Amino acid sequence: DRTTCWLLGDQLNPDLDVLDAADDVLLIEAHGFADRKPYHAHKLTLVFSAMRHFRDELRERGHDVTYLRADSFGDGLDAFFAERTAGAADGRDGGADGDGDTDSDGPHLQLMRPASHGAGERLREHVAERGGTLELVDNELFWTTPGDWRAWTGGEETEIGADGAAERTYRQENWYRHVRRETGVLMADGEPVGGEWNYDDDNQETPPEGWEPPARPTFEPDELTRETHAWVRERFDTWGNDSLDEFAWPVTRDEAREALDRFVREGLPAFGRYQDAMVGGEPFCSHSLCSPAINLGLLDPREPVRAVERAYAERGVEPGAYDPAEHGGGGAAATSLDDFGDDDSDEEGPSGNDAAGGGEETEAASSGDLAPVPLNAAEGFIRQVIGWREFVRHVYREAMPELADANRLEQSRDLPPAYWDGDTDMRCLSEAVGHVREYGYAHHIERLMVLANFALVYGADPAELNEWFHLGFVDAYHWVTTPNVVAMGSFGTDVLSSKPYASSGSYVNRMSDHCADCRYAVSRTTGEGACPFNALYWDFLKENEETLRGTGRMGLMYSHVDNKDDAEWESIRERADRVRELAGEGKL
Ligand code: FAD
Repeated sequence: DRTTCWLLGDQLNPDLDVLDAADDVLLIEAHGFADRKPYHAHKLTLVFSAMRHFRDELRERGHDVTYLRADSFGDGLDAFFAERTAGAADGRDGGADGDGDTDSDGPHLQLMRPASHGAGERLREHVAERGGTLELVDNELFWTTPGDWRAWTGGEETEIGADGAAERTYRQENWYRHVRRETGVLMADGEPVGGEWNYDDDNQETPPEGWEPPARPTFEPDELTRETHAWVRERFDTWGNDSLDEFAWPVTRDEAREALDRFVREGLPAFGRYQDAMVGGEPFCSHSLCSPAINLGLLDPREPVRAVERAYAERGVEPGAYDPAEHGGGGAAATSLDDFGDDDSDEEGPSGNDAAGGGEETEAASSGDLAPVPLNAAEGFIRQVIGWREFVRHVYREAMPELADANRLEQSRDLPPAYWDGDTDMRCLSEAVGHVREYGYAHHIERLMVLANFALVYGADPAELNEWFHLGFVDAYHWVTTPNVVAMGSFGTDVLSSKPYASSGSYVNRMSDHCADCRYAVSRTTGEGACPFNALYWDFLKENEETLRGTGRMGLMYSHVDNKDDAEWESIRERADRVRELAGEGKL
């Protein structure tokens, strides 16, 4: 009758309902996975340190915690069952009542359904093989449930064919609106606050020179983190920065809440406007840096959303009505990401929208000295969490296992060495890879429009890129990298976007200050010294014409393709070949 709550390493939240009903808690620190790939040292340190801190916190709160270190979950369960059986034989824990029915008398475990495809069923079998029972319950660490998703899709599922084509393309923007309606987040009388669902047009500026983002919240590694890190270094072959100097991630729930609080007070006002910007030497800009904590379970995704909604209620101003650069700087013309993907149903090419808002000085709404929170910042942030994060989780559930290997464009090149050593003269790429090597983090636009975009137009294998993201980022888990990397970044399938997020160097140029100092000329497509993105981009469109022209959303791009003559194509092909050769040799 006793129920053990088994929590996985990405379910580290002491306030879960599932803990209320449990008699005791099981945590298994499995190490074998980290022998198979060279994970970033900070990622392993973060996960194992957070688990160990969580164990201690649960114990302080009075939970009876069994904490096992093992090579695999199977080995951990063996140890757990051996302990329970011995305990039962001693009459210590009442696990067996002597009627000889070992199947039903074995330990009963409850587990929140793991986010990783098939893991719940596999673990249930492991437990059953050892004579216990495992009950899978809804995962509280996502806001929406599989039932919510089914209600939205009308129960219509999708299959990804062998050619990577999906039966249907899900649209994030529609899901997002549905979740806003259902949860009431940022809604007033059934309508979106401010009258619009999406203020992305206000969120594509680059900051003026000299703008400084708020300092990154840092959490000094304590003794347990140091010990864990020393053990990680000794025990595993890792990749990236293996000193603790730049390790500043929250490893406890209290720290995660403090980090969130800092973001809401200091980072949020500029989050919207500069959300898509890349600034040399500023890896974090105004991003929340919440993903490692949310994905570990230290933060419930409802918390950042509610905190931002509250901040808007207290400090909110009109979209664009607060300029974080104070003197009205920034405002470079921008290209909306929506022009690549499916966020917006309008079919149009790069818009060159003039950034909206700006200009007018607005008084801080209240809340002491804190800067105001423009609606575009609050809405933009909330969309990332209840829109994108929940969306990709369900798309993953729907589209696995085919999603992991989907390769619609049949791309198969190895990742260039620059992804491993960061050694390239392309400034955008060396900055972005450098951030990953140093911190296990790069922000969304670096991930999508530099790291994934370059791999896409270069022709890299989506599965290898997925593996690279998975081992290199502190916030990476299979459920979240796979839809983001294979579907969104690599267009391995059209399940979440009907056209690829591919661009030439001009996007990077508009959204960053990298190109001005780069050895390569973004203004040129062909010949030595031309920006590698340019020739690769056009060559990519040409190579994949059969698949991409037919998507119906690439009309503008293919009108440019059609305007190029044979001579131009010849030089593009020559340059693209040369770029691929140099990149493959690590000489780009
Ligand atoms: P913010 O910019 O502050 O955004 C707020 C929050 O929104 C994030 O913390 C995150 O929880 C959520 N979010 C935003 N976009 C997404 C998205 N597309 N998918 C899921 N959550 C989202 N996110 C991960 O959590 N882990 C990954 O391994 C990961 N890999 C990615 C790979 C690629 C190629 C791309 C294009 C995106 C990836 N993302 C991933 C999504 C997104 O880039 C990160 O969530 C974000 O950069 C994390 O930094 P932040 O917390 O500062 O985010």
